[in-house]
Amino acid sequence: MHLRSVFAALCALMLFAIPGMAQEEEAPKYKDQSPVSVYLANRNINEGVRFAVSNSLFTLYHEVGHLLVDQLDWPIIGREEDVADNFATYMLLSGKRRSFEQALKDSAFGWQLNDETYGGRRDVSDFYDEHSLDLQRAFQIVCLMVGKDRRTFAITAQEWGMSRERQNRCDDDWNQIESSISRLLAPHAGSTLETEITLTYDPPDRSMALAYKVLRDSQMLESIVEELRVGYGLPNPISVRGTMCGQPNAFYDSVEVEILFCYELIDDYFYMLDLYEARNGG
Ligand SMILES: [Zn+2]
Repeated sequence: MHLRSVFAALCALMLFAIPGMAQEEEAPKYKDQSPVSVYLANRNINEGVRFAVSNSLFTLYHEVGHLLVDQLDWPIIGREEDVADNFATYMLLSGKRRSFEQALKDSAFGWQLNDETYGGRRDVSDFYDEHSLDLQRAFQIVCLMVGKDRRTFAITAQEWGMSRERQNRCDDDWNQIESSISRLLAPHAGSTLETEITLTYDPPDRSMALAYKVLRDSQMLESIVEELRVGYGLPNPISVRGTMCGQPNAFYDSVEVEILFCYELIDDYFYMLDLYEARNGG
């Protein structure tokens, strides 16, 4: 258990104990204002909690990308892991939600911290892995952000040290991805097919109790379940499961048609941020 993780989670618990704060009275309009977007939009949210939930949300959309590739038989030319990342960025950018814009900034930073925490010395396996390098994943998020909206995200790109020339070319990157995903989603946009989706939370052990609490409070899994239920034309029943995995990760299981989200992943985001703050005297 990480000390600051405890602090951050306690802050989250206190936050949601205050009456009238961040609690929706009426059923939220999914896609426009999902529960997780309301949660992240709360100005009083603890930074560590926001960082952990934001990165978790990016990862969850990444797994949704794998699910759609599999279940809708999307054509893929290129690495599926890059496709899943681009889909996550697209989904977080396409709703014009401020809280999701911040979530993307947090996610790019999260990949930087992944590199700093676990990157170590590079070896050849980093280059034949299915995934791009952590810092490439970070810069791809930043590129799509600035490619979509120069006015809003030029400062972010500058903070990351991206040259003006590359920022300009990111327009093409965004336009290509936006056009491709829109075309893939369009046939299902009017679908009234209601997909059967089961959401399950397995009990956490004591070490993951607070990560579990933050996941439940954020309603991230509930938000995604509602988003997927209608409008994607998903033909098969889907399972979404929060669980203990023994590792900080998330998975899409094409045999079970199941997205697994590990409690250890949220805990790991707290851990990486703690280390970063310790390194930088935070
Ligand atoms: Zn993946």
